[in-house]
Amino acid sequence: MRLFLASGNRHKQKEVQEILKDYEVLIPKDLGIDFDPVETGESFYENSLIKARALWDLVHETVIADDSGICVEALNNAPGIYSARYAGPSYMKGYHDGHKITQEEQNICLIKQLNDTESENRNCFYVCSMVLLFNPQKFFIAQETFEGKLIKDINEQAGSGGFGYDPIVYLPEYKKTVAQLSADEKNKISHRGKALRQIATILNSIS
Ligand code: IMP
Repeated sequence: MRLFLASGNRHKQKEVQEILKDYEVLIPKDLGIDFDPVETGESFYENSLIKARALWDLVHETVIADDSGICVEALNNAPGIYSARYAGPSYMKGYHDGHKITQEEQNICLIKQLNDTESENRNCFYVCSMVLLFNPQKFFIAQETFEGKLIKDINEQAGSGGFGYDPIVYLPEYKKTVAQLSADEKNKISHRGKALRQIATILNSIS
């Protein structure tokens, strides 16, 4: 059986394919489909459902979609669903014209913004909301988290694995940043890995 992943990202496709071994995991690009739905939701699961429904409308086959981001407790769990667009305290939801700052700049801004609050609380967590949608009326959502602490100084950033905010998220029990974990290590404990395994269990139990 094949299923569609609502993403343009080959890296995510590979990650999902590795866990859903009995399925052929395709992304819209594989069928030459342009896919870039507007994420108008106010939560991770609303956005993942928007993506899943938009792709189902195009392919009418089983779809998996996810939405993820980083939440910083002392910033009222921001940037959250706006993590990809975050551009500092004045542009928490990104620039109006849609242009993005680099990931390195995002990392610097996020640490500075937290430091400026003078809060002792450096807890942060990633969230991943993953939807398995058989049709618009029949779907399952798994939402998982992955806890860490934001480093205090950008000079403490470390590691070249992972992506996004990983070099600035420290895991005290591993004495490493997320970017210092191997792909396998990250997969075992990450928000995305955990959500995907829940979805795999559901998929295998009902199909
Ligand atoms: P998306 O769900 O792929 O659109 O990801 C949203 C944004 O959240 C990414 O651009 C990253 O900034 C951030 N993010 C989500 N998951 C991770 C992760 O595992 N590591 C680092 N950053 C992440």
